[in-house]
Amino acid sequence: MGVDGTADSTPIGPCPACGLARLEPRHVTSDGTAVAIDVCPVCEGAFFDAGELDAVRSDDAPLEALFGLPRIPRVPRLCPRGHGPMEERRPQVAGITCTADVCRTCHGVFLDGRERRLLAKGSLPPSPPIGQVVARRSVLWILQLLVHLPVEVRNPTRGRAWVVLSLVVSSLALFVARIEGVDLGHLALDPAAFHTPSPPLPTLVTYALVHGSWWHVLGNVYFLYTFGDNVEHVFGSRLFALFAVLVTAAGAVAFLATEPADGARLVGASGLVAGILAAYLWTFPRNRLFHVVLFVQFELPAWIYVALWATFQVGMAFAASEGSLAGADADVAWSVHVGSFVAGLVLTPLAHLRVRHRLARAAAGAATPSPTAR
Ligand SMILES: [Zn+2]
Ligand SMILES: [Zn+2]
Repeated sequence: MGVDGTADSTPIGPCPACGLARLEPRHVTSDGTAVAIDVCPVCEGAFFDAGELDAVRSDDAPLEALFGLPRIPRVPRLCPRGHGPMEERRPQVAGITCTADVCRTCHGVFLDGRERRLLAKGSLPPSPPIGQVVARRSVLWILQLLVHLPVEVRNPTRGRAWVVLSLVVSSLALFVARIEGVDLGHLALDPAAFHTPSPPLPTLVTYALVHGSWWHVLGNVYFLYTFGDNVEHVFGSRLFALFAVLVTAAGAVAFLATEPADGARLVGASGLVAGILAAYLWTFPRNRLFHVVLFVQFELPAWIYVALWATFQVGMAFAASEGSLAGADADVAWSVHVGSFVAGLVLTPLAHLRVRHRLARAAAGAATPSPTAR
């Protein structure tokens, strides 16, 4: 898009930084000038067509002087308008060295999220009034004191998440059926059944849909919905469904490997949740989460939250294997969380490769060569 609102004729391609989403047009107003830039919904980087960056910058120094000499990086990023590799520039802003990617053909500039905050504040959404911020955080603080669940400061992507919604609805429906007296024992994962000649293989996955109590089902459904929708939006529903099946089964295998044959049966979606947290860690590491610890509300980047969560799970799995847990802690299948999380850590980069390949192919198909192409 251009400063005057005229659309650039070249279709916009995938994000040059993360490659996990197509850039989306976003309208911003800076000093009364309306500009439509193209923003990555996953990493929040933005592409500014020629002239757009000047329109949202606050200082008057010429852009070229600020940017300095071009250098060709070892792995150059590709212009989302389809002009091939971009040059890298290293502008100094307030003593901090930034990195900007500039297309030699269309003179568009790509800035990562951090660089955007330093160089093009005008392109960021305006912050809500302080009263609104305080009110929201206070309500969240009270709710989080009660339930201790993380809340996304900003929902990184929005879109249909049919797989996540189906999982949420079927988990709730099955729980209601169970308290109404329907026997769902055949869906649970029974270690003893896996020491018979014909183990019930579908239960490696179906155990995730059955829950033991309202807290169990509501907690898992909350995590599924909060983190799963964003991951499904990036992966696409089919790839996400495959990912969900694989991480759930990995948790089941970890359970069977660590639990005795005469042990309790396994139910619950917490393994699936662990796999999804691993995917969130890889995909949105810098998205921030509100979390309350000892009455204090922290705003943590997702990578710190997930790293602390994973360390706790590994510690508890170790304690469980030593037999040193008691009470409710002893009933939690910690090994499932660890198994599914590790599977998620391994599978997510593969899913990312698939998504990048899919978007790059779509962009190549959309770019129709014409004699006037820039
Ligand atoms: Zn991106
Ligand atoms: Zn270009």
